Amino acid sequence: MPNRYDVVVAGAGPAGAQCARDLAKRGYKVVVLETEAEAEFPSQSNKSTGGTFASMMTSFGIPNDVVMHATESVVLESPNEHFIQDQPGFVLDFEAFKKFLVEDGRDKGAEYRFDARVHEPIVEDGDVVGVRYNSDQEVYSEIVIDATGPAAPLAKDLKIANLERKNHAIGIEYLFEGVDLTHPDFANLTDAMMLRLDHEYAPGGYSWIFHTGDDTAKVGICYIQNESYREHATHNRTVDGYLEHWLDTDPRFENARRIADNQVRGSAHVQPPGSMSTDSFMAIGDTVPSVDPVWGEGIYKCMKSARAAAMTADRCLTKKIDTSAEEMSVYDDLWNEQVAPRQNRRLMMTRLLYLASNKRYDRLIRDLNKISRDTLSDINEGNKREIAKLLYPSDLSYLWKYWREA
Ligand SMILES: Cc1cc2nc3c(=O)[nH]c(=O)nc-3n(C[C@H](O)[C@H](O)[C@H](O)COP(=O)(O)OP(=O)(O)OC[C@H]3O[C@@H](n4cnc5c(N)ncnc54)[C@H](O)[C@@H]3O)c2cc1C
Repeated sequence: MPNRYDVVVAGAGPAGAQCARDLAKRGYKVVVLETEAEAEFPSQSNKSTGGTFASMMTSFGIPNDVVMHATESVVLESPNEHFIQDQPGFVLDFEAFKKFLVEDGRDKGAEYRFDARVHEPIVEDGDVVGVRYNSDQEVYSEIVIDATGPAAPLAKDLKIANLERKNHAIGIEYLFEGVDLTHPDFANLTDAMMLRLDHEYAPGGYSWIFHTGDDTAKVGICYIQNESYREHATHNRTVDGYLEHWLDTDPRFENARRIADNQVRGSAHVQPPGSMSTDSFMAIGDTVPSVDPVWGEGIYKCMKSARAAAMTADRCLTKKIDTSAEEMSVYDDLWNEQVAPRQNRRLMMTRLLYLASNKRYDRLIRDLNKISRDTLSDINEGNKREIAKLLYPSDLSYLWKYWREA
Protein backbone atom coordinates (compact mmCIF):
# COMPACT_ATOMS: atom_id res chain seq x y z
CA MET A 1 0.00 0.00 0.00
CA PRO A 2 1.57 3.32 -1.08
CA ASN A 3 0.60 5.30 2.02
CA ARG A 4 1.40 2.58 4.55
CA TYR A 5 4.81 2.26 6.25
CA ASP A 6 6.45 0.23 8.96
CA VAL A 7 7.38 3.45 10.79
CA VAL A 8 6.36 7.10 10.44
CA VAL A 9 8.76 9.60 12.03
CA ALA A 10 7.63 13.19 12.66
CA GLY A 11 10.56 15.67 12.52
CA ALA A 12 13.90 15.58 10.67
CA GLY A 13 16.14 16.80 13.53
CA PRO A 14 19.15 14.77 14.70
CA ALA A 15 16.79 12.36 16.52
CA GLY A 16 14.24 11.75 13.75
CA ALA A 17 16.75 11.64 10.90
CA GLN A 18 19.07 9.29 12.81
CA CYS A 19 16.18 6.96 13.67
CA ALA A 20 15.22 6.85 9.98
CA ARG A 21 18.84 6.06 9.05
CA ASP A 22 18.95 3.10 11.46
CA LEU A 23 15.54 1.76 10.43
CA ALA A 24 16.18 2.10 6.68
CA LYS A 25 19.52 0.34 7.09
CA ARG A 26 17.64 -2.60 8.66
CA GLY A 27 15.34 -2.69 5.61
CA TYR A 28 12.22 -1.12 7.14
CA LYS A 29 9.87 1.05 5.11
CA VAL A 30 10.14 4.41 6.86
CA VAL A 31 8.92 7.92 6.06
CA VAL A 32 9.97 11.16 7.79
CA LEU A 33 7.55 14.13 7.80
CA GLU A 34 9.29 17.49 8.23
CA THR A 35 7.46 20.79 8.59
CA GLU A 36 10.07 22.93 6.83
CA ALA A 37 10.32 23.26 3.05
CA GLU A 38 13.25 21.33 1.61
CA ALA A 39 14.71 24.36 -0.21
CA GLU A 40 15.21 26.23 3.09
CA PHE A 41 15.87 23.25 5.36
CA PRO A 42 17.02 23.79 8.03
CA SER A 43 16.12 27.42 8.71
CA GLN A 44 13.85 27.71 11.76
CA SER A 45 15.26 24.43 13.06
CA ASN A 46 18.93 25.40 12.60
CA LYS A 47 19.00 25.74 16.36
CA SER A 48 22.21 24.32 17.76
CA THR A 49 25.82 25.35 18.45
CA GLY A 50 26.74 21.84 17.42
CA GLY A 51 29.45 21.19 20.00
CA THR A 52 30.10 17.47 20.30
CA PHE A 53 32.77 14.84 20.94
CA ALA A 54 34.47 11.93 19.18
CA SER A 55 32.17 9.35 20.79
CA MET A 56 29.15 10.79 18.93
CA MET A 57 31.00 11.13 15.62
CA THR A 58 32.28 7.54 15.74
CA SER A 59 29.13 5.87 17.06
CA PHE A 60 26.99 7.40 14.31
CA GLY A 61 29.44 7.54 11.39
CA ILE A 62 29.41 11.33 11.04
CA PRO A 63 31.86 12.53 8.35
CA ASN A 64 34.43 15.28 8.88
CA ASP A 65 32.90 17.46 6.17
CA VAL A 66 30.11 18.57 8.54
CA VAL A 67 32.72 19.75 11.09
CA MET A 68 33.18 23.52 11.21
CA HIS A 69 36.14 23.36 13.59
CA ALA A 70 37.99 20.67 15.56
CA THR A 71 38.73 21.77 19.13
CA GLU A 72 41.28 20.52 21.67
CA SER A 73 40.00 21.62 25.05
CA VAL A 74 36.96 22.45 27.15
CA VAL A 75 37.27 25.55 29.34
CA LEU A 76 35.04 26.31 32.34
CA GLU A 77 34.98 29.95 33.33
CA SER A 78 33.57 31.76 36.38
CA PRO A 79 33.70 35.53 36.88
CA ASN A 80 37.33 35.47 38.08
CA GLU A 81 38.69 31.96 37.49
CA HIS A 82 39.02 29.34 34.78
CA PHE A 83 39.71 25.64 34.45
CA ILE A 84 41.04 23.97 31.29
CA GLN A 85 40.54 20.32 30.42
CA ASP A 86 42.27 18.77 27.40
CA GLN A 87 39.50 17.05 25.49
CA PRO A 88 39.24 16.83 21.71
CA GLY A 89 35.88 17.97 20.37
CA PHE A 90 34.07 19.15 17.27
CA VAL A 91 31.97 22.21 16.55
CA LEU A 92 29.58 21.08 13.82
CA ASP A 93 28.11 23.10 11.00
CA PHE A 94 24.63 22.18 12.28
CA GLU A 95 22.95 22.88 8.94
CA ALA A 96 25.39 20.63 7.05
CA PHE A 97 25.00 17.98 9.78
CA LYS A 98 21.19 17.91 9.44
CA LYS A 99 21.43 17.77 5.65
CA PHE A 100 23.92 14.91 5.85
CA LEU A 101 21.59 12.86 8.08
CA VAL A 102 18.72 13.34 5.60
CA GLU A 103 20.81 12.47 2.53
CA ASP A 104 22.42 9.45 4.15
CA GLY A 105 19.00 8.22 5.31
CA ARG A 106 17.67 8.59 1.77
CA ASP A 107 20.64 6.63 0.40
CA LYS A 108 19.73 3.85 2.82
CA GLY A 109 16.10 3.87 1.61
CA ALA A 110 14.23 6.26 3.93
CA GLU A 111 11.56 8.46 2.34
CA TYR A 112 11.21 12.15 3.23
CA ARG A 113 8.19 14.43 2.88
CA PHE A 114 9.06 18.11 3.47
CA ASP A 115 6.45 20.87 3.91
CA ALA A 116 4.58 18.32 6.03
CA ARG A 117 3.41 19.78 9.35
CA VAL A 118 2.27 16.95 11.62
CA HIS A 119 -0.55 17.88 13.97
CA GLU A 120 -2.21 14.79 15.45
CA PRO A 121 -2.03 11.02 15.76
CA ILE A 122 -4.67 8.80 14.14
CA VAL A 123 -5.92 6.53 16.93
CA GLU A 124 -8.14 3.47 16.37
CA ASP A 125 -9.30 1.33 19.31
CA GLY A 126 -6.66 2.88 21.56
CA ASP A 127 -3.87 2.07 19.12
CA VAL A 128 -1.86 4.71 17.21
CA VAL A 129 -2.15 3.73 13.54
CA GLY A 130 -0.84 6.82 11.75
CA VAL A 131 -0.63 10.63 11.73
CA ARG A 132 -2.47 13.59 10.19
CA TYR A 133 -0.44 16.39 8.68
CA ASN A 134 -1.14 19.63 6.79
CA SER A 135 -4.72 19.51 8.16
CA ASP A 136 -6.19 16.80 5.89
CA GLN A 137 -3.34 14.51 4.83
CA GLU A 138 -2.91 11.09 6.42
CA VAL A 139 -0.21 8.43 6.53
CA TYR A 140 -0.44 5.00 8.19
CA SER A 141 2.14 2.79 9.90
CA GLU A 142 2.73 0.04 12.47
CA ILE A 143 4.72 2.45 14.68
CA VAL A 144 4.68 6.23 14.98
CA ILE A 145 7.62 8.22 16.40
CA ASP A 146 7.44 11.84 17.56
CA ALA A 147 10.82 13.53 16.99
CA THR A 148 9.60 17.11 16.59
CA GLY A 149 11.65 18.48 19.51
CA PRO A 150 9.90 20.54 22.20
CA ALA A 151 6.87 21.10 19.87
CA ALA A 152 5.84 17.48 20.57
CA PRO A 153 2.33 17.62 18.97
CA LEU A 154 1.82 13.83 18.95
CA ALA A 155 3.31 13.12 22.38
CA LYS A 156 1.25 15.92 23.93
CA ASP A 157 -1.94 14.67 22.31
CA LEU A 158 -1.24 11.18 23.66
CA LYS A 159 -0.34 12.65 27.09
CA ILE A 160 3.15 11.15 26.89
CA ALA A 161 5.22 14.33 27.12
CA ASN A 162 4.67 16.48 30.15
CA LEU A 163 7.10 19.25 29.21
CA GLU A 164 6.67 21.92 31.88
CA ARG A 165 7.05 25.64 31.36
CA LYS A 166 8.97 26.06 34.62
CA ASN A 167 11.65 23.70 33.25
CA HIS A 168 11.96 25.44 29.90
CA ALA A 169 15.53 26.49 29.03
CA ILE A 170 15.89 29.12 26.30
CA GLY A 171 19.03 29.87 24.32
CA ILE A 172 20.33 32.29 21.71
CA GLU A 173 23.61 32.47 19.82
CA TYR A 174 25.36 34.48 17.09
CA LEU A 175 28.45 33.79 14.99
CA PHE A 176 31.14 36.48 15.29
CA GLU A 177 34.42 37.44 13.68
CA GLY A 178 37.04 39.61 15.33
CA VAL A 179 36.76 37.84 18.71
CA ASP A 180 39.88 38.21 20.89
CA LEU A 181 40.53 34.58 21.83
CA THR A 182 43.87 35.26 23.49
CA HIS A 183 42.96 38.21 25.71
CA PRO A 184 45.51 38.34 28.57
CA ASP A 185 42.82 38.56 31.30
CA PHE A 186 41.19 35.25 30.31
CA ALA A 187 42.06 31.66 29.38
CA ASN A 188 43.36 31.13 25.85
CA LEU A 189 40.25 30.09 23.88
CA THR A 190 42.05 29.09 20.69
CA ASP A 191 40.66 25.67 19.66
CA ALA A 192 38.45 25.58 22.77
CA MET A 193 34.80 25.23 23.71
CA MET A 194 34.28 27.54 26.68
CA LEU A 195 31.33 27.52 29.09
CA ARG A 196 30.97 30.41 31.56
CA LEU A 197 29.08 30.32 34.86
CA ASP A 198 28.23 33.93 35.65
CA HIS A 199 24.80 35.21 36.70
CA GLU A 200 25.61 38.65 35.35
CA TYR A 201 25.39 37.31 31.79
CA ALA A 202 23.26 34.19 32.15
CA PRO A 203 21.25 34.22 35.41
CA GLY A 204 20.39 30.63 36.30
CA GLY A 205 22.31 29.25 33.30
CA TYR A 206 25.58 29.67 31.40
CA SER A 207 27.09 31.45 28.43
CA TRP A 208 29.59 30.16 25.90
CA ILE A 209 32.27 30.92 23.30
CA PHE A 210 33.04 28.05 20.90
CA HIS A 211 36.02 28.73 18.62
CA THR A 212 35.18 28.09 14.95
CA GLY A 213 38.57 28.90 13.34
CA ASP A 214 40.71 32.06 12.82
CA ASP A 215 39.14 34.86 14.89
CA THR A 216 35.57 33.52 14.57
CA ALA A 217 33.45 31.99 17.33
CA LYS A 218 29.90 31.01 18.22
CA VAL A 219 28.84 33.13 21.19
CA GLY A 220 25.63 32.44 23.10
CA ILE A 221 23.75 32.21 26.38
CA CYS A 222 21.02 30.03 27.82
CA TYR A 223 19.12 29.83 31.10
CA ILE A 224 16.04 28.44 32.80
CA GLN A 225 13.73 30.95 34.45
CA ASN A 226 14.19 29.30 37.86
CA GLU A 227 14.70 30.75 41.34
CA SER A 228 18.30 31.63 40.57
CA TYR A 229 17.16 33.50 37.47
CA ARG A 230 14.58 35.43 39.49
CA GLU A 231 17.19 36.28 42.14
CA HIS A 232 19.82 37.54 39.69
CA ALA A 233 17.76 38.76 36.74
CA THR A 234 17.72 42.40 35.74
CA HIS A 235 14.20 43.70 35.38
CA ASN A 236 12.90 43.52 31.79
CA ARG A 237 16.15 42.18 30.29
CA THR A 238 15.34 39.54 27.67
CA VAL A 239 17.59 36.68 26.59
CA ASP A 240 18.71 38.90 23.66
CA GLY A 241 19.34 41.71 26.17
CA TYR A 242 21.64 39.48 28.25
CA LEU A 243 23.67 38.50 25.22
CA GLU A 244 23.95 42.19 24.23
CA HIS A 245 25.06 43.02 27.79
CA TRP A 246 27.83 40.42 27.62
CA LEU A 247 28.93 41.62 24.19
CA ASP A 248 29.02 45.24 25.43
CA THR A 249 31.03 44.58 28.60
CA ASP A 250 33.46 41.69 27.91
CA PRO A 251 36.69 43.06 26.35
CA ARG A 252 37.03 39.95 24.14
CA PHE A 253 34.18 41.33 22.01
CA GLU A 254 35.51 44.89 21.70
CA ASN A 255 36.26 44.46 17.98
CA ALA A 256 33.83 41.62 17.28
CA ARG A 257 31.41 41.89 14.37
CA ARG A 258 28.41 39.69 13.90
CA ILE A 259 28.49 37.55 10.78
CA ALA A 260 25.16 38.31 9.14
CA ASP A 261 22.34 35.76 8.95
CA ASN A 262 23.79 33.58 11.61
CA GLN A 263 21.44 33.44 14.50
CA VAL A 264 20.60 30.33 16.47
CA ARG A 265 17.61 30.32 18.80
CA GLY A 266 15.92 27.44 20.53
CA SER A 267 14.78 25.74 23.67
CA ALA A 268 14.80 22.45 25.56
CA HIS A 269 13.32 21.12 28.77
CA VAL A 270 15.42 20.21 31.78
CA GLN A 271 13.25 17.94 33.91
CA PRO A 272 12.82 14.30 34.90
CA PRO A 273 11.49 12.10 32.11
CA GLY A 274 8.12 10.42 32.49
CA SER A 275 6.78 7.67 30.25
CA MET A 276 8.12 7.86 26.69
CA SER A 277 6.01 5.29 24.86
CA THR A 278 2.57 3.76 24.54
CA ASP A 279 0.83 1.35 22.12
CA SER A 280 2.61 1.69 18.72
CA PHE A 281 4.21 4.99 19.74
CA MET A 282 7.55 6.39 20.98
CA ALA A 283 8.79 9.93 21.69
CA ILE A 284 12.51 10.60 21.08
CA GLY A 285 15.11 13.39 21.22
CA ASP A 286 14.02 16.71 22.73
CA THR A 287 10.36 15.63 22.57
CA VAL A 288 11.21 13.96 25.87
CA PRO A 289 13.74 15.76 28.10
CA SER A 290 16.85 14.03 26.69
CA VAL A 291 19.28 16.93 26.77
CA ASP A 292 22.01 16.58 29.41
CA PRO A 293 20.84 18.80 32.26
CA VAL A 294 24.28 20.03 33.35
CA TRP A 295 25.87 21.23 30.10
CA GLY A 296 23.05 21.07 27.56
CA GLU A 297 24.69 18.39 25.40
CA GLY A 298 21.68 17.29 23.37
CA ILE A 299 22.93 15.96 20.05
CA TYR A 300 24.56 12.77 21.33
CA LYS A 301 21.64 12.07 23.70
CA CYS A 302 19.10 12.56 20.92
CA MET A 303 21.00 10.30 18.55
CA LYS A 304 21.24 7.62 21.25
CA SER A 305 17.50 7.87 21.94
CA ALA A 306 16.92 7.49 18.18
CA ARG A 307 18.97 4.30 18.18
CA ALA A 308 17.12 2.94 21.22
CA ALA A 309 13.81 3.59 19.42
CA ALA A 310 15.06 1.91 16.22
CA MET A 311 16.17 -1.13 18.23
CA THR A 312 12.76 -1.30 19.93
CA ALA A 313 10.92 -0.99 16.59
CA ASP A 314 13.11 -3.73 15.12
CA ARG A 315 12.25 -5.99 18.04
CA CYS A 316 8.50 -5.28 17.78
CA LEU A 317 8.30 -5.73 14.00
CA THR A 318 10.44 -8.87 13.67
CA LYS A 319 8.49 -12.09 13.02
CA LYS A 320 5.10 -11.65 14.76
CA ILE A 321 4.22 -7.94 14.91
CA ASP A 322 3.56 -6.86 18.50
CA THR A 323 3.46 -3.12 19.18
CA SER A 324 1.59 -3.30 22.48
CA ALA A 325 2.47 -0.76 25.18
CA GLU A 326 4.32 -3.48 27.07
CA GLU A 327 6.58 -4.31 24.11
CA MET A 328 7.14 -0.63 23.29
CA SER A 329 8.20 0.04 26.89
CA VAL A 330 11.50 -1.70 26.08
CA TYR A 331 12.36 1.74 24.67
CA ASP A 332 11.83 3.38 28.10
CA ASP A 333 14.14 0.77 29.66
CA LEU A 334 16.84 1.35 27.05
CA TRP A 335 16.49 5.12 27.50
CA ASN A 336 16.98 4.91 31.25
CA GLU A 337 19.87 2.43 30.99
CA GLN A 338 21.75 3.69 27.94
CA VAL A 339 20.59 7.13 26.83
CA ALA A 340 20.51 9.03 30.11
CA PRO A 341 21.57 6.84 33.05
CA ARG A 342 21.45 8.60 36.43
CA GLN A 343 19.39 11.44 34.90
CA ASN A 344 17.75 12.32 38.22
CA ARG A 345 21.13 12.69 39.92
CA ARG A 346 22.35 14.93 37.11
CA LEU A 347 19.18 16.99 37.42
CA MET A 348 19.90 17.51 41.10
CA MET A 349 23.50 18.55 40.32
CA THR A 350 22.20 21.01 37.73
CA ARG A 351 19.69 22.62 40.06
CA LEU A 352 22.31 23.00 42.80
CA LEU A 353 24.88 24.36 40.35
CA TYR A 354 22.64 27.07 38.98
CA LEU A 355 21.49 28.09 42.47
CA ALA A 356 25.07 28.86 43.57
CA SER A 357 26.37 32.44 43.65
CA ASN A 358 29.11 33.93 41.44
CA LYS A 359 31.50 33.84 44.42
CA ARG A 360 30.75 30.15 44.88
CA TYR A 361 31.45 29.56 41.17
CA ASP A 362 34.93 31.05 41.62
CA ARG A 363 35.55 28.70 44.54
CA LEU A 364 34.29 25.69 42.58
CA ILE A 365 36.63 26.43 39.67
CA ARG A 366 39.58 26.85 42.07
CA ASP A 367 38.73 23.42 43.54
CA LEU A 368 38.39 21.81 40.11
CA ASN A 369 41.94 22.93 39.35
CA LYS A 370 43.17 20.83 42.30
CA ILE A 371 41.54 17.49 41.47
CA SER A 372 42.59 14.68 39.14
CA ARG A 373 41.08 13.94 35.74
CA ASP A 374 39.58 10.66 37.03
CA THR A 375 37.87 12.41 39.93
CA LEU A 376 36.51 14.97 37.53
CA SER A 377 35.06 12.28 35.34
CA ASP A 378 33.49 10.63 38.44
CA ILE A 379 31.90 13.97 39.36
CA ASN A 380 30.56 14.41 35.86
CA GLU A 381 29.06 10.91 36.07
CA GLY A 382 27.24 11.95 39.24
CA ASN A 383 29.40 10.06 41.78
CA LYS A 384 27.89 11.17 45.11
CA ARG A 385 31.04 10.67 47.20
CA GLU A 386 33.22 12.77 44.87
CA ILE A 387 30.54 15.48 44.58
CA ALA A 388 30.28 15.63 48.36
CA LYS A 389 34.03 16.40 48.55
CA LEU A 390 33.38 19.61 46.63
CA LEU A 391 30.75 20.81 49.11
CA TYR A 392 31.23 23.15 52.10
CA PRO A 393 29.01 23.73 55.18
CA SER A 394 27.98 27.09 53.69
CA ASP A 395 26.42 25.19 50.75
CA LEU A 396 23.53 24.19 53.03
CA SER A 397 21.75 27.37 51.96
CA TYR A 398 21.74 26.12 48.34
CA LEU A 399 20.44 22.73 49.48
CA TRP A 400 17.68 24.53 51.34
CA LYS A 401 16.77 26.55 48.23
CA TYR A 402 16.86 23.35 46.19
CA TRP A 403 14.40 21.52 48.45
CA ARG A 404 12.12 24.57 48.44
CA GLU A 405 12.09 24.62 44.61
CA ALA A 406 11.87 20.85 44.09
C1 LIG B 1 20.85 27.48 21.42
C2 LIG B 1 21.12 25.99 21.51
C3 LIG B 1 22.43 25.53 21.47
C4 LIG B 1 22.69 24.16 21.59
N1 LIG B 1 23.98 23.73 21.53
C5 LIG B 1 24.26 22.41 21.63
C6 LIG B 1 25.61 21.94 21.54
O1 LIG B 1 26.55 22.72 21.40
N2 LIG B 1 25.82 20.60 21.62
C7 LIG B 1 24.80 19.70 21.78
O2 LIG B 1 25.06 18.49 21.86
N3 LIG B 1 23.51 20.12 21.87
C8 LIG B 1 23.23 21.44 21.78
N4 LIG B 1 21.93 21.87 21.84
C9 LIG B 1 20.86 20.85 21.99
C10 LIG B 1 20.59 20.15 20.65
O3 LIG B 1 20.63 21.06 19.59
C11 LIG B 1 19.22 19.49 20.71
O4 LIG B 1 19.18 18.64 21.83
C12 LIG B 1 18.94 18.68 19.43
O5 LIG B 1 18.93 19.51 18.29
C13 LIG B 1 17.57 18.01 19.55
O6 LIG B 1 17.34 17.24 18.40
P1 LIG B 1 15.88 16.71 18.07
O7 LIG B 1 15.99 15.99 16.77
O8 LIG B 1 15.29 16.03 19.23
O9 LIG B 1 14.99 18.04 17.91
P2 LIG B 1 15.13 19.28 16.96
O10 LIG B 1 16.56 19.57 16.65
O11 LIG B 1 14.30 20.34 17.60
O12 LIG B 1 14.45 18.84 15.59
C14 LIG B 1 13.06 18.72 15.47
C15 LIG B 1 12.68 18.71 13.98
O13 LIG B 1 11.26 18.55 13.89
C16 LIG B 1 10.72 19.51 13.01
N5 LIG B 1 9.34 19.77 13.44
C17 LIG B 1 8.93 20.53 14.50
N6 LIG B 1 7.57 20.51 14.59
C18 LIG B 1 7.14 19.72 13.58
C19 LIG B 1 5.84 19.28 13.16
N7 LIG B 1 4.72 19.66 13.80
N8 LIG B 1 5.76 18.45 12.09
C20 LIG B 1 6.87 18.05 11.43
N9 LIG B 1 8.11 18.43 11.78
C21 LIG B 1 8.26 19.24 12.85
C22 LIG B 1 11.66 20.71 13.12
O14 LIG B 1 11.58 21.56 11.99
C23 LIG B 1 13.02 20.02 13.26
O15 LIG B 1 13.60 19.73 12.01
C24 LIG B 1 21.64 23.24 21.73
C25 LIG B 1 20.31 23.69 21.75
C26 LIG B 1 20.05 25.05 21.66
C27 LIG B 1 18.63 25.53 21.68
